[in-house]
Amino acid sequence: MAWRKNNTTVQILEAAERGQYGVLAAIVYNVEHITAFVRAAENRRSPLIIQLFPSSLDQTPSLVYAASAAAKNASVPISIHLDHAQNFDQIKHVASKLPFDSIMIDMSHYEREENLGKTETLREFCHARGIAVEAETGRIEGGEDGIMGTEDLEGILTNAEDVEQFISAGVDCLAPSVGNLHGDYGPQGPQLDMDRLRQIYQALAGRARLVLHGTNDFPPELCRACIAAGVTKFNVNKLVLDPWHEYLRANVHKPLTQLMTEGIDVLTQAMEGWMDVMGSSGKA
Ligand SMILES: [Zn+2]
Repeated sequence: MAWRKNNTTVQILEAAERGQYGVLAAIVYNVEHITAFVRAAENRRSPLIIQLFPSSLDQTPSLVYAASAAAKNASVPISIHLDHAQNFDQIKHVASKLPFDSIMIDMSHYEREENLGKTETLREFCHARGIAVEAETGRIEGGEDGIMGTEDLEGILTNAEDVEQFISAGVDCLAPSVGNLHGDYGPQGPQLDMDRLRQIYQALAGRARLVLHGTNDFPPELCRACIAAGVTKFNVNKLVLDPWHEYLRANVHKPLTQLMTEGIDVLTQAMEGWMDVMGSSGKA
């Protein structure tokens, strides 16, 4: 499929799998976030995936264009990804009209058959437009930023059968449920089923890239263990943005432009540190 050679998300993640490092897929809510993340990627010569939630498309409709322009003008590979897209018609609209390189088609709130059917239909629609597709297998518990939570559904861990079904549906990236949660972990911290993660990676056998959601509170050594297990795409939100929030809370009395400039500096540094943890520094 020729489009894959021109798809930045696919190219970034295939290179990461060959080189055995992780790539941060970081959520942005504003232009300062985009600025800091792109700056960090260029400073560290690291690939990067910038993610938006579907809620941002309504809240700040210009954000995806800012992200896309920043990515295109960057000196390192940066792609734009839509996280947890749960609305069938919205996905068609986004794939037709907006500058995304990849979309997570999250139909996990439907029962299995309907989930797979809708995922495959939308995957065909996206691929026809040169857009790569990620899907979630099993159910990752919790909710964030307008994403329908699945707390009321039984948490289901991904198994080998799930993997085959989603591979049959033609997805490019798979986000398994291996004990990872959306939102904060309890006092024990993240408890991942690493054997299951390794088995899922083996089962993929190079047919799709492995994605990890729910990385709040992840210590660096757990990130490295996940990379060793085959994960290439790390969805991050709070993990990277926390230092920026802390800076803002402590400095809210300062003038806006100073808050923006210093906030971008704080966030750039935080991002660079995580790029080093991922092993993506120096890879672009
Ligand atoms: Zn997620």
